[in-house]
Amino acid sequence: MEKYRIEKVGDRSVIIGEMVGEKSMFGTMLVVGDRRAALIDSGIGISGDLDRQVRRYTQLPVIVVHTHSDIDHVGSDALFDEIYLSPLDAEEYSVQSTHAERMKDIAVMVRDDPAWLKNAEEHMVGDASGRFSPLSDGQVIDLGGIHLEVIAVPGHSKGSVCFRNREENYIHLGDAICPVPWIWFTRCPSVETYLQNVREFQGRVDGTETLYCSHSMEALPKNIAERIEHACEEILSGQTKQDQPFEIELTMDVAGKDIRGHVFPDGLLVYDSHHLRERGK
Ligand SMILES: [Zn+2]
Repeated sequence: MEKYRIEKVGDRSVIIGEMVGEKSMFGTMLVVGDRRAALIDSGIGISGDLDRQVRRYTQLPVIVVHTHSDIDHVGSDALFDEIYLSPLDAEEYSVQSTHAERMKDIAVMVRDDPAWLKNAEEHMVGDASGRFSPLSDGQVIDLGGIHLEVIAVPGHSKGSVCFRNREENYIHLGDAICPVPWIWFTRCPSVETYLQNVREFQGRVDGTETLYCSHSMEALPKNIAERIEHACEEILSGQTKQDQPFEIELTMDVAGKDIRGHVFPDGLLVYDSHHLRERGK
């Protein structure tokens, strides 16, 4: 059973991808500074020993900084002492960081795979304490010789942020900007607002950065944000005849929504056709 995939992507940075079954990968990024290290997200916690993987690379104090609070990003928080998260995701965090909530979705993900189900039942990390320190847009986290800058891109969740590693010139995008952005949840802003937020992101980066997201070991195309902007523009201008209903398999609340996928080059924007613009506007 391959529990982790690991890829060094810089002198100071390594992607630690937690596997669930053969195909699903939940990625974290370990960034090691001179004084301390940061773990960007903590996976889903299915194998129970992400801290041991981290300790293969550093003995320095480790903080966990979150791109957002979904189950597959906060799963191993109980293994670490110092957690950072946008307060805009606090409410979600209190639910999603629990063992019970993660187990619910894991049971669906590995329903045809008894070995993985057993792995989850035996090793899944327990409830997080729920305590965290706040992250805010523009904040710079100093690890000693490495600076991580917080860039907020609300869309996938209200508190979604990206992290720019200034010295190694990459941006970790979480699920905020990725090949399959999910912006259909009740918590998400409209397609129109997401578009504005992606544009704002574009205005703040210089385009030379390597881009990583949470669910791939590989770098993304440098123009991924542009492709997403274009997809949003097409949706807002009504070019949606080809957009097929998108089936959500996990245990999420889809009541009252019309969830569609809008294809763009190497990607799919998953949105709610009832929420193109802010309500009441
Ligand atoms: Zn995710």
